[in-house]
Amino acid sequence: MVDPFCRLVTYLRVSVTDRCDFRCTYCMAENMSFLPKKDLLSLEELDRLCSAFIAKGVRKLRLTGGEPLVRKNIMHLVRSIGRHIEIGDLDELTLTTNGSQLARFAQDLYDCDVRRINISLDTLGPQKFKDITRWGDFSKVMEGIDAAQKAGLKIKLNAVAL
Ligand code: SF4
Repeated sequence: MVDPFCRLVTYLRVSVTDRCDFRCTYCMAENMSFLPKKDLLSLEELDRLCSAFIAKGVRKLRLTGGEPLVRKNIMHLVRSIGRHIEIGDLDELTLTTNGSQLARFAQDLYDCDVRRINISLDTLGPQKFKDITRWGDFSKVMEGIDAAQKAGLKIKLNAVAL
């Protein structure tokens, strides 16, 4: 794949859900209406789509959301894409997450050949964190970061400057 400026397209970001378990003030209203399930690609369709892009030259793939780890059975997709790393037709599979589910999923992500993740974390102040995310639990995110480090994942923190 080549863009209109003759640059090779080798990096793909795939949003696997519009849902999130936070309600950051700069991102979502508190009472959101999300897309109906019938309008979303199934995990199998996402897998086919990712495989098609990999076959066309994508070497690095990032899963995003909303919050990707709140999508039901998301690890099926991660595992399936991870196989492309094992056979050498994908260099890297990464994820951008708010960290809320990492305590549960960090080891699984590593086992599926994810080696690097981005975590959105706007503040280290628990009260400020609550004010920004509305529904977020700061201690859970810190537990998630600990779990990710323990699992061996490299972490980059993203912060939105307000
Ligand atoms: S964690 Fe990310 S996707 Fe979720 S509400 Fe905040 S900015 Fe939006």
